[in-house]
Amino acid sequence: MMKVHAIQTGTVRIKSAQVEGRGRGLRRRLAPFADRQWTEWLPTYAWVIDHPEGIIVVDTGQGAHLLDSGKSLHPYLRWEVAFRVDAEEEVGPQLRALGVGPRDVKQVVLTHLHVDHDGGLGHFPHSEILVARGELRTARGWAGRLRGYLPNRWPSWFSPVPLDLTAEPWGPFAASRRLTKAGNVIAVATPGHTADHLSVVVEDEGTTVFLAGDTSYNEQRMLAGQVDGVSANDDLASATLDAIKHLARTRPTVYLPTHDPESAGRLTSRRVVDDSGGAAR
Ligand SMILES: [Zn+2]
Repeated sequence: MMKVHAIQTGTVRIKSAQVEGRGRGLRRRLAPFADRQWTEWLPTYAWVIDHPEGIIVVDTGQGAHLLDSGKSLHPYLRWEVAFRVDAEEEVGPQLRALGVGPRDVKQVVLTHLHVDHDGGLGHFPHSEILVARGELRTARGWAGRLRGYLPNRWPSWFSPVPLDLTAEPWGPFAASRRLTKAGNVIAVATPGHTADHLSVVVEDEGTTVFLAGDTSYNEQRMLAGQVDGVSANDDLASATLDAIKHLARTRPTVYLPTHDPESAGRLTSRRVVDDSGGAAR
């Protein structure tokens, strides 16, 4: 069995209207700013795949620099999100505690470049780092900063390999790319939360472990097909949630969103999505 580890890099809280999108379109995207209701403190996970071809890390979690987000000039970072993380909770020190040094990590794959996913990049100077080409374009430079990304916090050496998903479908996903020679770790296109968002699938002994990034904030929202308060395009985001539901109906799937408080427990027990409750859940 391939070992997949969850590493919790601190916690985050956001507005309820970001987790559960309200209305459609621009109204849905502005709702978090008007919402005064915070979520509980949610985990932010990074994932480690202990693969025979080399260790793969999916997302790098939060960095202690995010504690300054309240001083940011960006309205989202300043008002709509809060982080808790100390230096020892960053992904690097936690990997070292597992006996994994910086040179042991072959590949780092980012689902997207939001600040709580790229915050630990500095711990991987020796790894090949893969980012969807379009996501990189969206996040870099001043245009990226205006969109709420923090390219100014990327390490000076940061020069990721642009990842182009090919038009080769994988299951219900229209575009994909194998990340290992064995073909059992696959990046799949899951556009919605960001236009070029991707997820990473680990096929392990008949079970599909789905490292979802922010396709939804938890499993219930995915099953309900409820778009979050961030996604730019309602239809695109809905189609991705539908594809994940379809996947889970056709093969045993452990669904692991970055911020779902139950993700780590589901990974440990290999608890698969059970859609028998249907949309009522
Ligand atoms: Zn995000």
